[in-house]
Amino acid sequence: MPGRFIALEGTDGVGKTSLARQLADISYDTAAARLGQPTAHGTAEVAAGVLVFVSRRQISTTSTYAATLMEHLSTMLWHSGDAPDLSDAFWVSLQAAWFTAHTETVVGPLLDAGFDIIVDGWLYKFFAKLLLQGFTEPDLAVIFDRVRMPDAVLLLRADAGAVYDRRQDFRPAELGMHASYGALDELGRDTFVDYQTKTAANLQTFAERHGWHTAELDPDEPIPATARRLAPIVAELRTPPEPAPMAGRDEEWRGATMTTTSLLAAHGGTRVLDLPQPHYQWPAVTRELEDAVHLQLHRSLSDRDASGVIGEFEAAFARFVGAPHAVSFASGTSAIHAMSRIAGLRPGDAILAPAYTFFATATPFAYDGIEVRFADADRYGNVTAATLAEKLTPAVRAVIVTHMWGNPCPMDEIVEFCRAHDLVLLEDCSHAHFASWRGQRIGTFGDMAVFSTNQKAITTGEGGVLVTAGDLYRELALLFGHYNKRCQKEIDPSAEYYPYAFTGMGLKHRITTLGAAIGVHQLTNAADIERRRRATLARYADGLADNPVIAPAVVPEAEGQHGLYVLGLRFTPENASVSRDEFVALCQAEGATEVDAPGSTRDISAEPLFARRDPFAPWVPSTPPSTDMPGVTTFADTFIKIPLWGYEGDEPFVAGYLDTLAKVSVAVAR
Ligand SMILES: *Cc1c(COP(=O)(O)O)cnc(C)c1O
Repeated sequence: MPGRFIALEGTDGVGKTSLARQLADISYDTAAARLGQPTAHGTAEVAAGVLVFVSRRQISTTSTYAATLMEHLSTMLWHSGDAPDLSDAFWVSLQAAWFTAHTETVVGPLLDAGFDIIVDGWLYKFFAKLLLQGFTEPDLAVIFDRVRMPDAVLLLRADAGAVYDRRQDFRPAELGMHASYGALDELGRDTFVDYQTKTAANLQTFAERHGWHTAELDPDEPIPATARRLAPIVAELRTPPEPAPMAGRDEEWRGATMTTTSLLAAHGGTRVLDLPQPHYQWPAVTRELEDAVHLQLHRSLSDRDASGVIGEFEAAFARFVGAPHAVSFASGTSAIHAMSRIAGLRPGDAILAPAYTFFATATPFAYDGIEVRFADADRYGNVTAATLAEKLTPAVRAVIVTHMWGNPCPMDEIVEFCRAHDLVLLEDCSHAHFASWRGQRIGTFGDMAVFSTNQKAITTGEGGVLVTAGDLYRELALLFGHYNKRCQKEIDPSAEYYPYAFTGMGLKHRITTLGAAIGVHQLTNAADIERRRRATLARYADGLADNPVIAPAVVPEAEGQHGLYVLGLRFTPENASVSRDEFVALCQAEGATEVDAPGSTRDISAEPLFARRDPFAPWVPSTPPSTDMPGVTTFADTFIKIPLWGYEGDEPFVAGYLDTLAKVSVAVAR
């Protein structure tokens, strides 16, 4: 049986989108993904009793061709509304084309599969506005007859003045631009109230004519509370008015009892997702990746210099970051150890490091007997010039920062701080491969930077890369990790340390050729990886926009671009009836098992390794100094992370996790 098509209607700004999203069980993306993968029970079983939120602006994700067409159409459409020079007729035909395409490629297939659908507004508001612009009902019938109209409508009514006061930023089309109120700069609260009130009157006429349900909204009531209040009305609208007689009795009964509730899986409800583990696999092992490794397997398994794949990987990495030099290592940790040894630090010197980071940012310095002094975190978990300054002593010679979870640190003030105190600046960019700060690429601010290529956004399996603009640092990094043939070939014979080219500094820390081959493949696809991960990030930002319980912990775009390692979320305990850890457990019970409160990345300042500074006995127990890190505590106690997917076939995960976060949030919001 086809599903029921429900629309929320109402004037601009009443909250149709937020409410529809909260009232639904799953998003369009999850539903579309389920269409593509029927279970043993068939598609009907998957769809039965499930209410899907479909945005009025939803673009088809099931057909590339339809999606491309609709993307162009939507770009024109959502801008034409604000372009006074386009004729009304143009705008109207564009709207008609949009809704026709939307019906055929988005709404129709889901209804046919048996999903119920709720949209955040359909054609009625548009009609109500056109009537104010002089169009007549016979004009509109031309569109009306061609577009699938909802089976049931719920009209939301709210005081236009209160709606305006709550949100204030409205587009010209919403302020009445097409309703001849005068010049653009005369549009404001007054025109909004007048225009929306008249629109509401027309909607009311439709409501009476078609027997719609109506509901009064209080703009000050929190969305989750309103959603709970409206849920019974929506449940009623989803029940077909005239049940078919006898024949399908069994089926109907099942349909009725399966009407979805938002009961949490932890309390006996249906899980949001049931997908094979692990949910996040990186790198995606594609045919091309297999080919790249296979090719390298036959080419060489160990290189003594950079004439082969090691050199290709380093050159590609340097280009990727926009740094003059890149030197590869066996791990991010060994590359950080190289920085510790070649930055000019000596025993007795100190370095400032984040208290909140993965410990390998700082452990190599401790290993070398350097005193590590820990700095507190800001609201993104990052150090700032101010938190570093608090820990400055005369012994401090260097600073290492970590761009936590992909958010860039405030680098201009940190560069300034290091310059003012003559400190070597090092960056741990292991979370921040794609990040920038105010337009400058992360990894290019300091004297040296390290990117781990372990399970990070660009990966080689195990590995790490040191990047620098300094020729001296480059050669010393080679001496540290790449002795003999490579050093003899690449180090300037006139350098005073050239005699060490043969033995290096005593150690070897090379990446494997197979790892480098994986890295070259990853970097070749970097643009694609970035595009996909940024799209996922944007999806979550949009999907969690009205969520009072969790929000993406992402630096504003004007400040920096996210590094795309994982998606960090900030939990707001005041708005929830459960703790952060309970929230995580509820999400995991829904099947989103990789919603995570990280364990090994935390305040490391009390680790005994950092209290003992004898490089020959770092394991000797001692009492670490206890320091107060209020910023770290606040950040770490409210932080949740989820994978940031970016490969083909990840759609069910992306959508399922978003639905899980929404469902659990609605259930625990207060
Ligand atoms: C992963 C990571 C490291 C260590 O890199 P490995 O390649 O695993 O040795 C260092 N710092 C941070 C912040 C990391 O996330």
